[in-house]
Amino acid sequence: MSADAVVVGGGLAGSEAAWQLAKRGINVKLFEMRPDISTGAHQTGYLAELVCSNSLGSKLPDRASGVLMTELRTLGSIVLICAERNAVPAGGALAVDREHFARDVTEQIEKNPQIQVIRNEARSIPEGFVVIASGPLTSDSLTQAICGLSGQDHLFFFDALAPILDAESIDMSIAYRASRYERGDREEGDYINCPLNKAEYEAFVDSLLRAERIPLRSFEKEIEEGVRAGAHHYFEGCLPVEIIAERGRESLAFGPMRPVGLRDPRSGERPHAVLQLRQDNLAGSLYNMVGFQTNLTYDEQRKVFRMIPGLEKARFQRYGQMHRNTFLNSPMQLQANLQHVDRSDLFFAGQLTGVEGYLGNIATGLLAGINLSRRIKGDDLLVMPRETMLGSLAHYIAHADAKLFQPMKANFGLMPPLEDGRRRNRRERASAYAERSAAILAEFLENTQEICA
Ligand SMILES: Cc1cc2nc3c(=O)[nH]c(=O)nc-3n(C[C@H](O)[C@H](O)[C@H](O)COP(=O)(O)OP(=O)(O)OC[C@H]3O[C@@H](n4cnc5c(N)ncnc54)[C@H](O)[C@@H]3O)c2cc1C
Repeated sequence: MSADAVVVGGGLAGSEAAWQLAKRGINVKLFEMRPDISTGAHQTGYLAELVCSNSLGSKLPDRASGVLMTELRTLGSIVLICAERNAVPAGGALAVDREHFARDVTEQIEKNPQIQVIRNEARSIPEGFVVIASGPLTSDSLTQAICGLSGQDHLFFFDALAPILDAESIDMSIAYRASRYERGDREEGDYINCPLNKAEYEAFVDSLLRAERIPLRSFEKEIEEGVRAGAHHYFEGCLPVEIIAERGRESLAFGPMRPVGLRDPRSGERPHAVLQLRQDNLAGSLYNMVGFQTNLTYDEQRKVFRMIPGLEKARFQRYGQMHRNTFLNSPMQLQANLQHVDRSDLFFAGQLTGVEGYLGNIATGLLAGINLSRRIKGDDLLVMPRETMLGSLAHYIAHADAKLFQPMKANFGLMPPLEDGRRRNRRERASAYAERSAAILAEFLENTQEICA
C-alpha cells in the first residue's frame, strides 16, 4: 500500500486523525509504539487506550463538554461512536468500559483497508504529509525531534492518576448509590458514594497531609536531561488530592469531595464530605475514585484511603501515580488549523497541542485529519468558527500568550460572548452557546462541503 500520509501515535487523537484521512480517500500509515515500547502509563496494546478516568465528560448538551460532544457527533467522529456504544452508566457523563472501548476503536482502525497500523516507534518526524499525535508521554527521541523543530523548548508538567478499586471490596452497608441531584441513568443512582462526617473528614485530611509521597526524583532527573530544567509543576485541573488538601482544610470538601446533591438515603442528611466512585467497566466490577489523583506511596494510599467510610477493606486494582505531560508551546508553533507554522505538510493533534481532555484530544485529531486531507488535495484548510467549542480550543492554542501557555479544556470562557444584549442566567447562557454552536457549525459545513456523517 502506498502511504499518502503518516500519523504518529494511535491514541485518541491519532486514531481519529487516521480514520478521517482514510474516510477522505487517503492511505495512512499509523505508527503506534505499544505494546513493544511502553509509555509507562498505558497497560495494553490497544489503540485509544484511556489511561486514567473512563469518563469523556458531561453529555448534557448545555455543558462545555456536551457542546463539544455534539459537534463531534455532527462531524462524524469514529472515536465518539465507539465511546457511545461502549458506555457505562455515569449520570450525566459519557463514561465507557475502557477495555471494550479501546478494543472497538482498534478493530475499526485495523479493519480499515486504507489504514496500515505499524507497531513501531517513530524516532523522528517523518518526511511528507504527517500528523503527530504522540500524546503527553511522547517517546524521548521523538520529543527531542519535536523540540528541534522550531528551536522551541517543549513544556511539561506533572499530572496524576486516580486509583481504581474492586467493587466487591467496597462496604455497601456504609457506602450508598446516588447520582448528584438524582441526575443519572439508573434509578438507584450511577455512583457509589462514601459519606464522611466532620470528624471523619478531619481525621482523613490530617492523615493525608502527613502521608509519605513518592519523591519526584525520576522526574527531576528527566527535567535535568530534558529541555526546560526546573519547570515542573502541576496542572491545575488535575491536582493530586494531597496538594488540594494543603491549600486549606476544607478545600477537598469544596472540591472533589463536595457533598452537594448527594444526600445519604439512610440518614436523610447531607454528609460533610463525599468520595464518589464511578463505574469503570461494563461488568461493574471496578470503580475509580473520582478526582482522587494522588502521588502518595502505595502503602500510604492503602492506609489513608481506607480511612474513608466504606473503603476500610478496599482492594486497589490500580494505585494512583504521577506522570509527565508533554506539550508544545503551541502559540509559537501551530496555527488554528493545527498546521505547523514552518512546515505546511506537518500537523499536530491531541494533548501535545495543549488541548486538555479526552474529547478535546479526539476533536483536534479529527480537525488535523480533515485538514491534512485537504492539504494533500490542495483545498483550503479549515479554521473552525470560534463560536464552536472546537474552534474556540483551536483558536486558544494558536493565539494564547506564549509566555504563559497552559493546556486548556473545553469551556465556555473560550467562546466569543453572546452579543444579542439579552440578560440570561448561567444555564440559559450555556444553552444559548450550545444553540449558537450547532447553528454555526451546520452553516459552516454546508459552505465548506466537508463530508461528515
Ligand atoms: C497518566 C495519565 C492520566 C491522564 N488522565 C486523564 C484523564 O483522566 N482525563 C483526561 O481527559 N485526560 C487525561 N490524560 C490526558 C490524556 O492523555 C489525554 O486526554 C488523551 O489520552 C490524549 O490523547 P492523545 O491521543 O493526545 O494521546 P494518547 O492517548 O496518549 O496517545 C498517544 C499515543 O502515541 C503513542 N506514542 C508515543 N510516542 C510514540 C512514538 N514515538 N512512536 C509511535 N507511537 C508513539 C503512545 O503509545 C500512545 O498510544 C491523562 C494522561 C496521562 C498520561
